[in-house]
Amino acid sequence: MHGSGKNHPVPEKESQRPVIYDCIVVGGGAAGLFYAAGDATETASCQPKLLLEKTARPGQKLLMSGNGQCNLTHGGSIKDFLWKYGDQGKRIRSCLYRHNNLELMSMMESMGVPLTEREDGKIFPASMKAREVLDALLATAKSGGWDLRCNAEVTAIHAPANSNAPADSNAPIEVVLATGARLQTRKLVLATGGASYPATGSDGTFYEILRRDLGLAINTIRPALTPVYVQDYHYQDLSGISFPDVTITCGGHTCRGALLLTHKCFSGPAILHISQYVKAGDPMVINYLPSFSKDQLRQKLKEDQSGNKLSVANYLSAEFGLPKAFVEKVIPTSQEAFRTLRSVDRDLIAEHLSEHAYSVSGTGGFKAAMVTAGGVALEQIDLKTMSLKDHANIHIIGEALDINGDTGGYNLQFAYSSAMTAR
Ligand SMILES: Cc1cc2nc3c(=O)[nH]c(=O)nc-3n(C[C@H](O)[C@H](O)[C@H](O)COP(=O)(O)OP(=O)(O)OC[C@H]3O[C@@H](n4cnc5c(N)ncnc54)[C@H](O)[C@@H]3O)c2cc1C
Repeated sequence: MHGSGKNHPVPEKESQRPVIYDCIVVGGGAAGLFYAAGDATETASCQPKLLLEKTARPGQKLLMSGNGQCNLTHGGSIKDFLWKYGDQGKRIRSCLYRHNNLELMSMMESMGVPLTEREDGKIFPASMKAREVLDALLATAKSGGWDLRCNAEVTAIHAPANSNAPADSNAPIEVVLATGARLQTRKLVLATGGASYPATGSDGTFYEILRRDLGLAINTIRPALTPVYVQDYHYQDLSGISFPDVTITCGGHTCRGALLLTHKCFSGPAILHISQYVKAGDPMVINYLPSFSKDQLRQKLKEDQSGNKLSVANYLSAEFGLPKAFVEKVIPTSQEAFRTLRSVDRDLIAEHLSEHAYSVSGTGGFKAAMVTAGGVALEQIDLKTMSLKDHANIHIIGEALDINGDTGGYNLQFAYSSAMTAR
C-alpha cells in the first residue's frame, strides 16, 4: 500500500475537480485491513479507494495479538463460535456463518500465509509471526488498488441526512481529517476499534464522533479480557503457576477454564473471560477443584483419610494435581492440624480449595484489556450488510461494534466476518 500517499489522487481542495472516492475505510486495524484485502482479492478496480489510519503505523494491535503470534481464529465448527460472544453471539450468526473460519483460513493461505492448528484448535500463521499476517494483508490491499494514508485522523463525518432515501443515494459522504482536509466518498467503512490498549490508536475517542455526527447510540464501554486484582494477593512468588481447570464466580457470572497466577494479579482464560463483569469491591470465589462441590470434597477427604500417612501437600498434589507450592501457600501445612491427611481439618481444606473467597480490588482496565465490551448498539446496524439502518452507504465493522469474543481467535474472526459482510 502507498504509505505516503505519493501515488494517491490529489486531495480534493488541491485539485480542480474534487475526487469522489469509491470507498474510504477509517481505521487500519484488523477489520479495516481485512476489508481492504478482501475487496482487493475480489475486485481489483481502478476506482480510488483509501484507507485512513490515525497513527503512524497500521495494524499495531494485530501485531500484538496472540503474544505476537496472532491467533487468527479457531479450527472448530462455526456453530460452536456463537456462544463465545456471550448473549450477542446469536445476533451475528449469519455474518459468522457466511464468512466463517474456513473462509478466513483459505483467504490467508491464498495470500501466501500457511497456517497451523494447535492441539487446542487455535489457528496461527505457521511462522507464528503476526507480522507475516499484517504484511500479507497490506500487500494484498495495495495490489488491489488501495491507498493507505497514515497519520490521518478522521475528526468528523458529514453524511446526507438519510442515505436510504432514493434522492440521497448518490450524495457523497464527507470525511474531515484533523488537518482540516475534506474527502468525499460514495461508501464509508468505519473500522475504528474499541478503547483497549489505547497506545495502539484505538482509544475510544471515535465513539464520540459516531454519537455526535451520526446520532448513534453507544452501549457503555468497559474493559474485557483483562487481568483481575484482589485484596491481599499473596501469590507473588508463585507467578507462572497455572491451573488447567477452575471455576470463578463473580458479579453474577461463573466462568470455567484455566487460571494463571502472575506477580500481581490473576490472569489466564477464565479470569480474562469473567473480567468484564467484575468491579472493585465484588466478592470473587474460586473453586480450584471444579469437579467437586465443597461438600463433595469434604466427603472425599473423609473417605481418603483413614490409614493415609501422606502429608496434606503430597496428597492434594498426587490426588488432584494441585501444585505443591500453591497448597503450601493456601493451607497452613506446617500446623499440626494440616500436617498429615489423617489429622486434617477437612472443613478448612474444602473451603480453601472449593470456595476460596477473594475481594476484587480492580481490573487491568483498558490499558491491559485485549478487547472492549460495549460499543455501537447492534439495533442500529443491518447485520446482513453491516451498514447503518439509516445510512445504507455507511458501514461499521470490528470491535467498534458492541460485540466482544472470548480468547481463542474469536475477536479476529469477528473482525474478518464483519469486514467481509460489509463488502
Ligand atoms: C494484547 C492483545 C492480544 C490480542 N490477541 C488476540 C488474538 O490472538 N486473537 C484474537 O482474535 N484477538 C486478539 N486480540 C483482539 C484483537 O486484536 C482485536 O479484537 C482486533 O484487533 C480488533 O480489530 P479492529 O480493526 O476492530 O480494531 P483495531 O485493531 O483496534 O484497529 C482500529 C484502528 O482504527 C484506528 N483509528 C481509531 N480512530 C481513528 C480515527 N479517528 N481516524 C483514523 N483511524 C482511527 C486506530 O488507530 C486503529 O489502528 C488481542 C488484543 C490485544 C490488545
